[in-house]
Amino acid sequence: MEEKNSCEVPFMDLRRMLSLEKKSIEQAFSRVLESGRYILGQEVRSFEQSVARYLNVRHCLGVSSGSDALLLALMAFGVKAGDEVICPVFTFFATASSVARAGAKPVFADVCPGCFQLSPSEVQARISSNTQGIIPVHLFGQCADMEGFKAIEEKKHLFLIEDSAQAFGASIGNKKAGTFGSVGCFSFFPTKNLAAFGEAGLVSTSSDDIASKIQALRVHGSSKEKYSHEWLGGNFRMDEMQAAFLSVRLAAVDSLIAQRIKNAQFYEKAFLSSGVAIKCPDPCLCQTRQQEENSRWLEKEWGYPIFLPNRVRGTHTFNQYVIRVKKDRDRLRNYLREQRIQTEIYYPIPLHLQPCFSFLGYRKGDFPIAEKLSEEVLALPIFPGLREEEMERVVETIRQFYAHKGKRKNGVN
Ligand SMILES: *Cc1c(COP(=O)(O)O)cnc(C)c1O
Repeated sequence: MEEKNSCEVPFMDLRRMLSLEKKSIEQAFSRVLESGRYILGQEVRSFEQSVARYLNVRHCLGVSSGSDALLLALMAFGVKAGDEVICPVFTFFATASSVARAGAKPVFADVCPGCFQLSPSEVQARISSNTQGIIPVHLFGQCADMEGFKAIEEKKHLFLIEDSAQAFGASIGNKKAGTFGSVGCFSFFPTKNLAAFGEAGLVSTSSDDIASKIQALRVHGSSKEKYSHEWLGGNFRMDEMQAAFLSVRLAAVDSLIAQRIKNAQFYEKAFLSSGVAIKCPDPCLCQTRQQEENSRWLEKEWGYPIFLPNRVRGTHTFNQYVIRVKKDRDRLRNYLREQRIQTEIYYPIPLHLQPCFSFLGYRKGDFPIAEKLSEEVLALPIFPGLREEEMERVVETIRQFYAHKGKRKNGVN
């Protein structure tokens, strides 16, 4: 037992994914080296076609990163000063920063306590005459309530950009994340479901117009003649090496996702029998516009320190396995660190409280659910290649943390 405890449980170990594919990856790399073309060539084109087939969408364009994919999508819609784009307040920074970088104003909306996703009812309440679009995020690998957002999109004539950075391969019914809205944006940062060996991203769309505009914006807004620029674009190109690597990964992505799902099931079973956890009892309130109701649920005491993530709609790909820790989150995290178990916090500061967004004038208390979640969330290792005994150790260590604490409180220790 002592010896076992001394090995580290990493939050992610990319090398474990490599072993199976090493040969195909080396072949892909030498193919690129020998081709003599290193940017936006045949590898990128063929990767784009394979992803378009995988997602079942008309156009896919490989770009430099997920953040740039979002920026490009907003540029393609021509957002400008004074325009508002609604996005979740509880997400990775790039969702909202892309709006500000494109020159528009990010308007935040709160998320659902049951599924962590941007809630359509909260978005509805923040639509103004300046609202041009919405950016739902498929957070942690599960789809947002796209039915709800499609209804708003159609009624209000807004654009719908899906931040699918964490949800490659997720779906609702037979439709994949990134194909519901006007544009889907993906990241292939090495922590994502489809992981590059550096920076890369992708834009998907079924619109010919948007696709050709993004294609031009990707190369400094030049579409027809070389060195003639119709729009102010940027350098958002994808490297051939990344595309070649990603093509190998894409062939295995469903089995990598299946491993994540299997790991999540393993955690759920182990946690439920440990006695410290229940499945998150907060209901999905995506369709209910009632802040009071939301906070009512948040205040309820359930007597368990750990809430497990809910699968609310479609296929949850578990890009992250995020539990809610109702008691002593930060002390638990320190304890896990002492026991050499790595965890992460996604996200410790909701976006309305980020210093760089202070100009938007939000205050603490504006988004009660996101603020509460930021104090409770803890992401556990879930990556493909994680071993069952490692997950057992994670659950057992968390159980021990609360068992010891209980004893101390009762004066036994
Ligand atoms: C990772 C991520 C991005 C940004 O992608 P990069 O490739 O790192 O630029 C954007 N949005 C979300 C929700 C992400 O998780």
